[in-house]
Amino acid sequence: MGYRKFSKRISQRTSDAMSKFVLAQDPETISFAGGLPDNNLFPVEELKYAYEEVLRTEGNCAFQYSSTMGDLKLRELIGEQFFSKWGLTINPENIILTEGSQQALDLLGKLFLDEDDIALIEEPGYLGTIQAWSMFTSRLIGIPQDEYGINTDYLEDVLRNLDERVKVLYIVPDFSNPAGTCLVIERRKKILELSEKYDFFVVEDLAYSLLSYDTNTLPPLITISKSEKIITIGSFSKILSPGLRTGFIIANREVINALIRLKEASDLCSGTLNQKMIYQYWRLGFLEKHVEKLRKSYKEKRDALKTALENTFKTIAKWNYPQGGFFFFLTFPEWVDAYKLAEYALNNKTSFVPGEEFFVSQEGKNTARISFSQVPVDKVEEGVKRLIRAWEEYKEK
Ligand code: PMP
Repeated sequence: MGYRKFSKRISQRTSDAMSKFVLAQDPETISFAGGLPDNNLFPVEELKYAYEEVLRTEGNCAFQYSSTMGDLKLRELIGEQFFSKWGLTINPENIILTEGSQQALDLLGKLFLDEDDIALIEEPGYLGTIQAWSMFTSRLIGIPQDEYGINTDYLEDVLRNLDERVKVLYIVPDFSNPAGTCLVIERRKKILELSEKYDFFVVEDLAYSLLSYDTNTLPPLITISKSEKIITIGSFSKILSPGLRTGFIIANREVINALIRLKEASDLCSGTLNQKMIYQYWRLGFLEKHVEKLRKSYKEKRDALKTALENTFKTIAKWNYPQGGFFFFLTFPEWVDAYKLAEYALNNKTSFVPGEEFFVSQEGKNTARISFSQVPVDKVEEGVKRLIRAWEEYKEK
């Protein structure tokens, strides 16, 4: 009965939605639930080559601890390449590598948030951030999004009306999870202005930024302003492999120094071998080609789901048109309980995630995240047919 000894933070937020709709699936199910990359797209042969290259060139060091900040060569490459399109290079001293960006979120939560501190998050917002930051504060406030990203007028109202200072705001500016939105440029600039005026940090998460299907990605906040209050996080999970658990944080030196102390206490350093493998894979020119391939493949999936949804759900729900990333986000009429609908979907051997999971407020009961990343193109139509069958059954009850 050890649970009575557990800390307060572990008993705060519990939901069974992820295990119910994302993880527990029989093989017959066509799943629109997971936000995972397509298994069939992992570049196994090239990674094998990169791995052998690591063993050949740095065999001994690859099995040693690395520095807490992570492999210098990989940090240098991130600094040179990631924002080169916008003419920006980053000093590797301003980059720390993490165990995926989930650890970045955990460390940033630890860095900024005491129990009653206020953090803001776009709403609907990334569940991983809600989970991570709810461990530190119960005062996570959602700022609604519309089709242009987070509503900056609403944000300013909140900032103006709160007596206490907001410490940090989290956004996914490109192809967000779950809403699939892109933050328009005027709002990016407005957020930068507000961060100076009201003195809070902005965490921009670029997890999907390279996965654009129609247009070029807009400039990240870090490329627009030299503000010390911008923290940028990125990940190799969606553009290469989540199993390699490698992400990064870019921030000013004071923030990086604090993060080094926190990361040291947490895990000393991330996996050296994985970091070196990613470095070799990228250095050998594989990454750019791979991202091109991913764009093509996910675009086909996105288009197939768009067509299938238009042919079935058009008069039933509204949704965004995602120009990148993995997600359609559906809003049903007010009376719909998408959690119940998701249970009907499971019975029909398909699945999605009820949108309420992505809200910190009590909103979003009538919304659903439908991901196209893992469904083969030739299964999309059948999957959506099952969804509409689930809808018909749910509606009749
Ligand atoms: N940020 C967002 C918005 C995501 O959707 C995801 C993947 N679910 C990540 C980050 C990636 O997390 P990680 O790097 O820990 O795999």
